[in-house]
Amino acid sequence: MKHSRTIFTSLCPFVILALAAILSFAQQKPKPPLKVFISVDMEGISGIVHGDQTTPGTADYADGCAWMVADVNAAVEGALAAGATEIVVNDSHGSMRNIDAALLTPQAVLISGTPKPLSMMQGIDASFAACLLIGYHAKAGTENAVLDHTISGSVVRAIKVNGIEMPELGLNAAIAGYYGVPVVLISGDTAVCRQAGEILGKDVVTVAVKEAYGRLAARLVPLPEAHNKIRMGVKEALGKLAGAKPYKLIAPYTFELAYHVSAQADMGAMIPGVKRLDARTLAFTADDYIQGFRTLRAMISIAPAR
Ligand SMILES: [Zn+2]
Repeated sequence: MKHSRTIFTSLCPFVILALAAILSFAQQKPKPPLKVFISVDMEGISGIVHGDQTTPGTADYADGCAWMVADVNAAVEGALAAGATEIVVNDSHGSMRNIDAALLTPQAVLISGTPKPLSMMQGIDASFAACLLIGYHAKAGTENAVLDHTISGSVVRAIKVNGIEMPELGLNAAIAGYYGVPVVLISGDTAVCRQAGEILGKDVVTVAVKEAYGRLAARLVPLPEAHNKIRMGVKEALGKLAGAKPYKLIAPYTFELAYHVSAQADMGAMIPGVKRLDARTLAFTADDYIQGFRTLRAMISIAPAR
């Protein structure tokens, strides 16, 4: 009897602690969902400076793919550290089959392949809390910018929406904005980071992983440091999500597409509702941004290569 009371007395604090832990756990509110959408291009990935590193069939392509998944995994880790409950990664470059699914952090879901109706933004919807743009690049015609182009290097000279010349980051941020989702972080070279600030405002977190000396050369942030910058940047961006605003353009949306040469405009000019502003520039207006974006993509796709 005495012996069992001693055991009871000595166990008592543990029982109380266990009960307290169970009670406090029961009182905790369920974690609110934090869904994060990540669109990943390739030209702005840490380490990449040349088209050979982004093109299948070249000796350098495997390096590009390895560096791409390393940047993505750093972003996924940052999102998980910030409490992300669901992460969707959309491979957004070329064939859109660059990310090796086996190497992606398993907490993330991969969208792979092309064509996709929303292209680089496929998979986004209003249930997401935030969008991250990883490995992005500056718009066509930007000086000192690694592999600058807009959607198609051989077709597009410039794209404007409502008079604003758009890099891909702007076109895609407007898709996120259509669903009420803010773009909170972008990674790439210093040029695309500058353009992100110009279009999205100063609150977007920018992570520069290289500084270009031209179109095909750059001073690289050492890769482990670049990955750490992405990880920390994502954590910071998602930590201050409450103040983030979606990027919204005002309807109706006037799209202007300047091709490199007039022969490329000849096909798009046949689409009903499309106006020809000059030999190589077409324009149209859409009431719905997504519809306009799809028309724009079709106009780019039907153009013959230069
Ligand atoms: Zn790309």
